[in-house]
Amino acid sequence: AKGRGRNAYRFFSQEMTGEGADQLRLESMLRRSIDNDEIFLNYQPQVDIETGQLIGVEALARWKHPELGLVPPVRFIPLAEESGFINQLGKWVLRESCRQMVRWQEAGLYVPKIAVNLSVRQFERGSIVAIVSSILDETGLEPQRLQLEVTESVIMNTGDAFAFINDLNAIGVGLAIDDFGTGYSSLAYLKQLPVQTLKIDRSFIKDISTDPNDEAIAIAIIQLGKSLNLSVIAEGVETAEQVAFLLRHGCNLAQGYFYSRPAAQQDLFERWKPHSR
Ligand code: C2E
Ligand code: CA
Ligand code: CA
Ligand code: CA
Repeated sequence: AKGRGRNAYRFFSQEMTGEGADQLRLESMLRRSIDNDEIFLNYQPQVDIETGQLIGVEALARWKHPELGLVPPVRFIPLAEESGFINQLGKWVLRESCRQMVRWQEAGLYVPKIAVNLSVRQFERGSIVAIVSSILDETGLEPQRLQLEVTESVIMNTGDAFAFINDLNAIGVGLAIDDFGTGYSSLAYLKQLPVQTLKIDRSFIKDISTDPNDEAIAIAIIQLGKSLNLSVIAEGVETAEQVAFLLRHGCNLAQGYFYSRPAAQQDLFERWKPHSR
């Protein structure tokens, strides 16, 4: 409904000024961003808390416009979703992620797994499975080393989400539920879906040591993951207290500034490459 409202507005205002015009300008800049080489990826480590080992990375899109500078994903991802550009962008992110995994490996760094975010729009066209499998073929990355992150709302709002997810699972690609705990309260789907990982949303981790409700929710998610035999990763881990809490409650996978901010591929390589003696 929101999208339709926007289009109506756009239709009637040829000489728009203000916010609407800014949005349109931004949208047209965004459309050219891939061709202009303004999009790149940062990678945030996912770490085994007990061993300190790198278990994977999450690929996060970045847009650096020559005049605007760095535009944050919370601005350009929703715009890409509304305009449909997300299909192109999402494909670019997938391909670049898989290529980077191969490049790291060729340079001597084995990153076990890469997580890539998918938007609901990427499921709408029905070709997501074909896109993923052709990118895997093209790059040679093993399907088991790609994990796709979707939110609960993607699962609940996509008509054929179950079919797509089953198809992705059938080609060997892993699935994680992102921002877990913030979406629908119906958990029945978890039993039926071939997902491997739950990511505890940052909002629950943030105040874990001061807010008993957040603490209770985090513990419940960890337990749920255990009983369903899923991996649980805590997002947005920033402090040693949070790490201690997670360990105490049986969650040993984490991602967050405590370990590393999202970083350029070279920085990730430098930090995690095997030491030569
Ligand atoms: P997300 O998928 O939940 O990604 C995690 C976000 O949390 C990232 O923000 C990351 O930089 C941030 N983060 C990680 N650790 C910490 C921490 O310890 N503290 C705090 N305060 N933040 C932390 P970022 O990169 O700005 O991305 C925001 C959102 O944009 C992502 O949330 C995701 O929903 C979306 N996004 C980013 N790249 C892509 C993409 O390639 N495709 C799609 N569809 N969405 C993307
Ligand atoms: Ca994510
Ligand atoms: Ca998340
Ligand atoms: Ca989020």
